[in-house]
Amino acid sequence: MCARFLLAEMPGVCAVPIGYDLGGPIATLTGRPFGMVADRADRLGAAETDRPVSSEIPTSRPRGAGLWFRLRNHAVSRSQPARGGQAQSQTSASGPAAQYRHVGAGNAPTIVVYHSLSTAKNRMTDQLGVTTDPEVFRRHVKYFARNFDIVGPDDLIRGSLPRKPLLITFDDVYRTVLDVGGPILREVDAPSLFFINPDSIVTQTVPIDNLLSLAVSHLGGAEVSRLIGLNERCPVSVQALISDHISQMSSAQTSDLKAALCTRFGLDEREIRGSCKLFLDAPDLRRLTDYGIRVGNHSMSHSFFRSLTEADLDSEIRLSRDLLEQMSGQSVTSLSIPYGSECDATDAALEAARSSGHRAIFLVHGRSNALRPAADVFYRISPRNAQPLLLPLSLRVLPHLRTAWYKLR
Ligand SMILES: [Zn+2]
Repeated sequence: MCARFLLAEMPGVCAVPIGYDLGGPIATLTGRPFGMVADRADRLGAAETDRPVSSEIPTSRPRGAGLWFRLRNHAVSRSQPARGGQAQSQTSASGPAAQYRHVGAGNAPTIVVYHSLSTAKNRMTDQLGVTTDPEVFRRHVKYFARNFDIVGPDDLIRGSLPRKPLLITFDDVYRTVLDVGGPILREVDAPSLFFINPDSIVTQTVPIDNLLSLAVSHLGGAEVSRLIGLNERCPVSVQALISDHISQMSSAQTSDLKAALCTRFGLDEREIRGSCKLFLDAPDLRRLTDYGIRVGNHSMSHSFFRSLTEADLDSEIRLSRDLLEQMSGQSVTSLSIPYGSECDATDAALEAARSSGHRAIFLVHGRSNALRPAADVFYRISPRNAQPLLLPLSLRVLPHLRTAWYKLR
């Protein structure tokens, strides 16, 4: 087993396997941020989407009408086209927070992240590498209960941690976290933290990652590349499409791409969402407390933060938090940055998060939390389907090796 493999983050990073997290194993080691390709705005065109945003928003919500209105404005605002790559970057709030000052931690918490829990084949997720077998998850949870002190997000924020703290988290909007993960967690009374994107719930739309998985499964990577407007000779993976191309798109371009994919299928996006039964609906958020699952903010629409304006960041972070608090009835004080990369932990994003009441901010990267960028920023590890026998390696050895490599590079 080569050192490169050992040091690379495991697949399944925040809706996207390794390539999405750090730009792939090589990028992990060289520090090259992913998404370094030229902007594809010219290839996709800059036409404003004609998606009827306002009609997608429920109008009969009993509470929070103001917030629904703000969400509509948020969506309309984000439907404005980018002016091309250069202009897009010029309007960005700031670049990545370049130089992290590492800070020490007492009892460094181990934090794991999961996504969907299922054994069923599903074309909406098959290409993403985000699914954990529920029985594997059960064995993981039992291993955590035996070998760690499982804590909740409030313990982490207070800093009053036991000797071997471990926090279980989930990302994205997968229903199996509630239906499958909840009962498993209750077997050992383990608290957890579930980071959710409210946009998909409110507008009943499908995240672009899942649409791409469906499209590549049905049409193949080459055909989807052609639909995107790329001249890829070889079939490309969903991971590559997201890390190299979606990361460069504006929200309007992403919406256009989703519309084009749905047109190709001859299906409405909401039909796809409704029939796949894959995602949470609004009433489900109130049930999460039955299983000790706290709600966290995963941004409004799961966009890459790196190229967002300050106004977009405010909508993606502050408005998303407000909506989640309304829908769940919980206080939301944690933010998981979409795709988990420090490239998206820009100064502006961190400022937007902190000023809107987030007390803990989560990346992935699979590094140790003994050394981390700031006191309120935490790394997570993605065990996915690792055999329990390998968990000591995944949770204790590899994170320290990655941190050591990060310091040396
Ligand atoms: Zn995610």
